[in-house]
Amino acid sequence: MIDRIADLHCDSALEIQGGADLVAGNPEGHVDLDRLERGGVKLQVFVSYVSSAFPEERAFAEACGLIDGVEDLCLRSGGRLAKADGAADAERALKEGAETVAILAVENGHAIAGEIANLERLRRRGVRYMTLTHSRHLSWAAGSGQPLAGTVGLSSFGKKVVEAMNDLGVIVDVSHVHESTFWDVAACSKKPFIASHSDAAALCPTPRNLTDDQLRAVADSGGLVGVNFFPGLLDPDYERDIGASLGDLFARLREVELRTIDDARSRLSEYRRLFGEMRERTRSRKVPLDLVVDHIEHIMKIAGEDAVAFGSDFDGAPELPEGLGDCSSFPRLLERMRERGFRESAIEKIAYGNFLRVLSEADR
Ligand SMILES: [Zn+2]
Repeated sequence: MIDRIADLHCDSALEIQGGADLVAGNPEGHVDLDRLERGGVKLQVFVSYVSSAFPEERAFAEACGLIDGVEDLCLRSGGRLAKADGAADAERALKEGAETVAILAVENGHAIAGEIANLERLRRRGVRYMTLTHSRHLSWAAGSGQPLAGTVGLSSFGKKVVEAMNDLGVIVDVSHVHESTFWDVAACSKKPFIASHSDAAALCPTPRNLTDDQLRAVADSGGLVGVNFFPGLLDPDYERDIGASLGDLFARLREVELRTIDDARSRLSEYRRLFGEMRERTRSRKVPLDLVVDHIEHIMKIAGEDAVAFGSDFDGAPELPEGLGDCSSFPRLLERMRERGFRESAIEKIAYGNFLRVLSEADR
């Protein structure tokens, strides 16, 4: 029994940018090197999230700054964390002694500032997937957090972006996109595409999650869904219990981002304050670890065991299920999957193999 974990989505680049030291330890956050190693996390995708609050002319530089932070962390880690460019590179770095490999990704196509050349630059820096939108619409792709008005699905430029991503080996990520964008991607992507951090809408209906038809379409492309551990996407009663919608949450995050555009440190402390406030509202009730396993099971039933992975959303989720409080808790999740009868071969694929397969596929 070899437990290796690949996690498709953490927002720890924002922690680094805000001054956290993941080598020394980051108890206020969900991820640091010690806990990655204890959790058996062999591959961690570090996402550079570029808020749409940034003016377009600053978006690309913002993505690069976040990537700088992750590269700097690798350099300072004394070989424990190594940046890898793809599946073969990751396996080699692990063989050569790295405890964990870092794979880069970008969240929000706003980062390319409307230029395919910027996508090429990001690929050269090692970016392996790009989440097309965050909650708001771009001029070329509709996001899931706004009503449709004018922007529907992918524009003709949006289709060019997807084509360029296919050619460059940057995996298309449909988490956060509007359903109209999703179906345009399904129709035009020539490579497997992923939802890096989303759950099943059949169990928790929100525009951030995927319907059964969408789950099947992801699997048909050869892609996968990284199961998100945020109770807001797992638990249908979450919005009722915080007394607000996920849309309200995104609106408040945007206020923070607009206010702190020039100050990453105060942005991080304001994120933390807002998340603390949300935890306070749901303090009396716990979200069981089993709910994560329920989503994994559902996605497996609809899309197959080749189409499921983990996309924790650590350092991006305001709160987490019981027993899954940070990146060292993966063994507990695997143990629960075993107790619930998952076959060992399925666990290996979900925990690690599926993402490595999609990553290799992207290089063909
Ligand atoms: Zn996200």
